[in-house]
Amino acid sequence: MYSRTYTYGTAFTVVVLLIMGGAYMLFRTNEPTPVVETPVVAPPTVPTTPPALRPQIIGTSVEKRAIEAYTYGTGPTHLLFVGGIHGGYEWNSVLLAYTFIDRLEAAPESIPESLTVTIIPALNPDGVFKVTGKDGRFARTDVKVGLDPATIRFNANGIDLNRNFDCKWKPESTWRSKVVSAGSAAFSEPEAAAFRDYVAKINPSGVVFWHSQSNAVYASECTEGILPGTRTLMETYATAAKYPAVDSFDAYPVTGDAEGWLASIGIPAITVELATHETIEWDRNLAGFDAVLGQYRIAK
Ligand SMILES: [Zn+2]
Repeated sequence: MYSRTYTYGTAFTVVVLLIMGGAYMLFRTNEPTPVVETPVVAPPTVPTTPPALRPQIIGTSVEKRAIEAYTYGTGPTHLLFVGGIHGGYEWNSVLLAYTFIDRLEAAPESIPESLTVTIIPALNPDGVFKVTGKDGRFARTDVKVGLDPATIRFNANGIDLNRNFDCKWKPESTWRSKVVSAGSAAFSEPEAAAFRDYVAKINPSGVVFWHSQSNAVYASECTEGILPGTRTLMETYATAAKYPAVDSFDAYPVTGDAEGWLASIGIPAITVELATHETIEWDRNLAGFDAVLGQYRIAK
C-alpha cells in the first residue's frame, strides 16, 4: 500500500514537472538557453517494490528463534490462526499453517475487504526445530520420526506452553497421564508472553489454534462458561470441516491453556485437533477456514 501510494505520488510529480518544463520551454524559446537544473523527482535509494512485509516477527523463543506472523488484508475485523504451540509433537499443525500461508501469498486479495487475517505458523519454534532441524518453513521430508514426544512438545525450558497462560494457571498441570511443567508463573515463557502482547496489539475477533490429534473442534472457557462467539466459531469451523464439535475437552484436566485465557478476556477461541499427527487434512481445513472468514465477513 505504501509503495502504491508512493508510486502514484511519484508519477504525479513527474507528470507535473514535465508539463511545467514543457511550458517553460515554450515561453522561453527566444531567450538564451537556460541553465538546466536537474529536477528532484525522488530519492534514488527508495525502492519501487516494497520491502517484504511478511513475516512480521512478534517475539523470540527461549533459543532466540523468531516467532513469525503472516498478515493478509487490512479490514477492521482481525482473525488469528495459530499452529505449533506443541512444537514438533504436532508438526503437522505447522505444516497446515504454512500451506495456508502459501495459498494467501498467491492470492492475498482473496481476504474479504472487512477482514484482516494473521497466521502464526509456529508458536513453539524451538520444539519444531527439534523435529525438523529447520528454522521457519520446512518440508515433510525434513521431519525426523521416532523422537520422544515429551522432548519435542515443550519449549526449550521443558515447559508445556499451552499450560503457561493466565487461566486457572498452576505450576504443574497434566498432559494425558503425565504431570507437565507450566512455568514459574503465567506468561513466564517468552513464547506465551509474545503471544499475549500480540493479542493485546491486534485485539482479534476470533482465534483458531491448530493441534493434533484428537480429531475434533473444541470450544473454550475459563471461569465464565463458553462465550457465544466461541460457540458460533466452533460450529462454523466444525460443520464446514466435518470434525465433531465438542464443548469442552475433558479427557484430563487442563490448566493455563491459551484458549481459556482468551475466553477470560472475552475473545472467542477454538481448538482444531487434526485427526492424526502426520496429516494436514487440507480440504477439510480449507473449508473450515473459508467458512470462518465467511461468518466474520458479514458479522460486523
Ligand atoms: Zn496440542
